[in-house]
Amino acid sequence: MTRVLVVEDEPQIVRALVINLRARKYEVDAAYDGASALELAAARHPDVVVLDLGLPDMDGVEVIRGLRGWTRVPIIVLSARQASDEKVEALDAGADDYVTKPFGMDELLARMRAAVRRAEPVAPEGDSVVTTDDFTVDLAAKKVNRGGTDVRLTPTEWHLLEVLVRNSGRLVGQTQLLQEVWGPAYHKETNYLRVYLAQLRRKLETDPSHPRHFITEPGMGYRFEP
Ligand code: CA
Repeated sequence: MTRVLVVEDEPQIVRALVINLRARKYEVDAAYDGASALELAAARHPDVVVLDLGLPDMDGVEVIRGLRGWTRVPIIVLSARQASDEKVEALDAGADDYVTKPFGMDELLARMRAAVRRAEPVAPEGDSVVTTDDFTVDLAAKKVNRGGTDVRLTPTEWHLLEVLVRNSGRLVGQTQLLQEVWGPAYHKETNYLRVYLAQLRRKLETDPSHPRHFITEPGMGYRFEP
């Protein structure tokens, strides 16, 4: 059962969330201010936090910072304000996603499911070393070796490579890649993917214009073939 912590000071919204979430078999705790949110989170260890940014005792961003001091629990921010500055601040502080009020329950539920799914630990795939004909990726050591030489990757290139390699043989959607590597605010920046995939191919493929390992699925995403 997924445990949700709802942090919100407007009783009608809390009520609607509690009814809808419980109807879908979520276990729900509610906090009406930041201090009780931090206490409840520590006591109950929720699987996902839904957090209003405008709280009576402190800014929601402070709650995010408080949580991020000790937990990686997914945090979805509810923001009534149109100011994108605040969303950016919340995401920078460690929120995973945001929904703007007034929100549709279906949208919030979909965001929650996605956040919980992303947070699930990747099953250890036995060997953390993936070998292809052209190069070797050591996920644990965070190293790529090609022809006996370590290939230098930037942190972003590495992160992208890591997500693709961990999903070896599977299509990874553009949105998922953007969100995992760059963050939720970048889910539409598909040009980033084109640029960074081109760099990975240039560094790792024998013939970058005819890639054998970093395959584009047009309009959908990318697939790593060992
Ligand atoms: Ca509020």
